[in-house]
Amino acid sequence: MSATAPAPVVDLAIVGGGMVGACLALALADTLAATGRKVVLLEATPPDTGQSPSFDGRTSALSNGSRRILTTLGVWEAVATQAAPIHRIHISDRGRFGAARIDAKEQGLEAMGYVVPNRALGAALWARLQDHPAVELRAPCRVVGLERAQECVNLMLDDGTTLAARLVVAADGAQSAVREAAGVTATADDYGQVALITQVSAGKPHAGVAYERFTTSGPIAVLPLPPALGHQRVATVWTLAPADAARVRALDDAAFLAELQQAFGWRLGLFSAPGERLAYPLALVQAASLVSERVAIIGNAAQGLHPIAGQGFNLGLRDAITLAECVADVLGPPDGDPGSAAVLQRYAAWRAADRRLLVRFTDGLVKLFGAKLGPLRAARSLGLSLFDVLPPAKAAMSTLSTGGGGELPRLARGLPLLAAVRAAREATP
Ligand SMILES: Cc1cc2nc3c(=O)[nH]c(=O)nc-3n(C[C@H](O)[C@H](O)[C@H](O)COP(=O)(O)OP(=O)(O)OC[C@H]3O[C@@H](n4cnc5c(N)ncnc54)[C@H](O)[C@@H]3O)c2cc1C
Repeated sequence: MSATAPAPVVDLAIVGGGMVGACLALALADTLAATGRKVVLLEATPPDTGQSPSFDGRTSALSNGSRRILTTLGVWEAVATQAAPIHRIHISDRGRFGAARIDAKEQGLEAMGYVVPNRALGAALWARLQDHPAVELRAPCRVVGLERAQECVNLMLDDGTTLAARLVVAADGAQSAVREAAGVTATADDYGQVALITQVSAGKPHAGVAYERFTTSGPIAVLPLPPALGHQRVATVWTLAPADAARVRALDDAAFLAELQQAFGWRLGLFSAPGERLAYPLALVQAASLVSERVAIIGNAAQGLHPIAGQGFNLGLRDAITLAECVADVLGPPDGDPGSAAVLQRYAAWRAADRRLLVRFTDGLVKLFGAKLGPLRAARSLGLSLFDVLPPAKAAMSTLSTGGGGELPRLARGLPLLAAVRAAREATP
């Protein structure tokens, strides 16, 4: 009778094949292939069925920095025809004097960013992953437990099997079960708000302008969409109190359009043809740590932000490419350990400042613009006017749009990871 050989330990297992987990897998795929290793990507929902909670009916505003990263990863080309450039951002306060405009040209940029349907991004990412020799996709496959073993982590899967990996990455979203099973606590501060999203046709061309309008019921973002998605289509993200959101979501189309029009105004003419309405309860979720033994946490599992400034994925993508670089840098020698404490510490330290800044910036905006009355509202009006005439404030906003601040990982500078790993390999005696 022959003894059963223990299952091989994979170098890397990523739990969650949504926006951020899929980007990490792709960022590392070529380097893993070149060093004879592989990554297993475990995703709970079946592919190509429209069931992914990440690649759903939302659109995402991507920064120029994210565009550069996606270009380096070879996926931008596939989404470009479905991406709308944002030429100008217009911020206003309904019924108040202040308004701010940030123009891409004034900032010396081609665009402030790009609006991309999440589904288009998902299709492009998964198409690249499906063909890659270093990537093993398991979907649908849900991780239901985690156990630490000697020099690896065992993941329990919902089909009853176990997968051992030297590094496990939690990319399983804000409610991350992996984060919890790994013993990392998280705080969740409920904003008491729901984002109601849909798409509508505008009566006037959007001309690449993204609007952020603050109303007494909550902020409304109106984002330009590309012609490929229909004539003069725009995406709307309307933040409301939960009861209002439930009521507005249930309205018939005519009543919904009337309320949206009333709240947003007529800058884009008459709204018509609303699409599917989706609702997202909003909270600020923060993991107490980005790492624990042989586990790294990225994307919404690390921090879930309010979508007011459209920064959640942009930030999560920077988590993914930073971790990819920390891992890639140890893959040169054959015994390089991607789950070592040194890799994890470097990743956590590198991400700390960017993460802190974005959490504060986003949370501060929510609190400033959530104020209904009083001095905060006056300050906000003044703030908007000042913002319009104050070049440094605008420049800060466009720095954010380029993903600047701190040392940029190689992929954010347009440099693939593989070249550096090859150089390290050649240098190893
Ligand atoms: C209304 C709204 C608008 C937004 N707009 C923008 C924007 O304009 N720009 C921007 O940058 N960001 C935006 N965001 C934020 C952005 O959507 C998130 O930051 C992003 O989706 C995070 O991706 P993720 O992969 O980390 O997590 P998720 O998108 O939550 O994906 C997690 C994945 O893990 C899988 N999973 C979960 N549990 C398991 C398990 N146990 N086993 C296996 N798989 C599992 C899930 O099926 C899913 O595919 C917005 C968010 C909202 C709510």
